[in-house]
Amino acid sequence: TLILGIETSCDDTGCAVIDGRNSILGESLYSQNAIHVRFGGVNPLVAHELHRENIEKAVAEALEKAKKTINEIDAIAVTTKPGLLVSLQVGVKYARYLSRKYFKPIIPIHHMEAHALVARMYHVLPFPYIVLLISGGHCLLALVRDINDFVLFGKSLDNAPGEVLDKVARRMKLKNIKEYSTVCGGRAVELAALKSSNPGLFEFTLPLLRHRDCNFSFSGLKDALVRKLIKKEQEHNMMGDEIIPEVNDLCAGIQCAVAEHLAHRTQRAIMYCEKNNLISPDNRRLVVSGGVACNNFIFESIKLVGNNMGYSTYRPPANVCTDNGVMIAWNGLEKVRKQCDIRSELSLKEVDPEAPLGINCINEVTAAN
Ligand code: ATP
Ligand code: FE
Repeated sequence: TLILGIETSCDDTGCAVIDGRNSILGESLYSQNAIHVRFGGVNPLVAHELHRENIEKAVAEALEKAKKTINEIDAIAVTTKPGLLVSLQVGVKYARYLSRKYFKPIIPIHHMEAHALVARMYHVLPFPYIVLLISGGHCLLALVRDINDFVLFGKSLDNAPGEVLDKVARRMKLKNIKEYSTVCGGRAVELAALKSSNPGLFEFTLPLLRHRDCNFSFSGLKDALVRKLIKKEQEHNMMGDEIIPEVNDLCAGIQCAVAEHLAHRTQRAIMYCEKNNLISPDNRRLVVSGGVACNNFIFESIKLVGNNMGYSTYRPPANVCTDNGVMIAWNGLEKVRKQCDIRSELSLKEVDPEAPLGINCINEVTAAN
């Protein structure tokens, strides 16, 4: 089986060809990140233009690397939701065009389900397992019961962790430091935190400590960081582009707070699953995915909580944690194996910018605690 995956939900045009032996034969990724940082966020008009400019190249490149022609492909998987409407449309329109022209089945993919499932390409992960999805647009805790059966335990009430790390990195002007000029905000914070000689200098109050549920909140941490930063800038009489000398310690502080908050809520989700017998003792597995899962400090903090509860913790390789075509192709392959959601036609109406993940169980989780 050969699957072509196409991802254009946000600011990356990603494609991949994978086969039935779970191997990546070819992949391509056109990132728009460097352009969008200038706007301080993803600019929809620019994203739309760049996806249109790159989609044909990205597909051709993935096929070329795989040494396959489109005729040899068995099915085309494409992200239809959630994401930026104008971005999603570019991928779906091109997938529809290929599907019609070459008579190929087309498979709609939910971007967050793909983030959650792709770990199965690398690890033996029978259902059900717990997943923590931490990315630029989402923070979700869920139980994965099957490839198309998710139960949502909690989500962020405000910002996503990646979004907050990107914003605080920008506010701390990390981009002005040469070695961070080409990496994303989250990675810049991680690298700066590694250099901290006093990681305990800045203390952050953990969000939602009194809330006995699995939801998240990150905007308070962001505001707290900005207040601490302004205070230091004033102390040092700084102006313009100067960077506070304590910047590494500040990065360590916020990273630690984000990690602790994530770990704390994950522990709650595990406790909920244990109490309600949702996971059998020989099936205690936890998956962390999404761009923020690349962060080693954050991943290790969550893994520690998993270990303490008897859970094994997994994550996909870093380049598969962030947006990519591989996870879309993988989800397509899983759907082919299950014979579900395989279409001869896909309507543009299926493009849905705000598609929640799975069955919402947030109120039950909240009430049970
Ligand atoms: P979503 O999947 O919710 O639609 P997205 O697709 O934009 O959002 P991803 O590509 O999965 O998000 O992840 C991008 C995010 O991951 C960015 O916010 C980035 O800062 C963050 N990130 C990447 N590497 C790291 C790292 N090492 N540490 C922390 N955050 C990171
Ligand atoms: Fe993503």
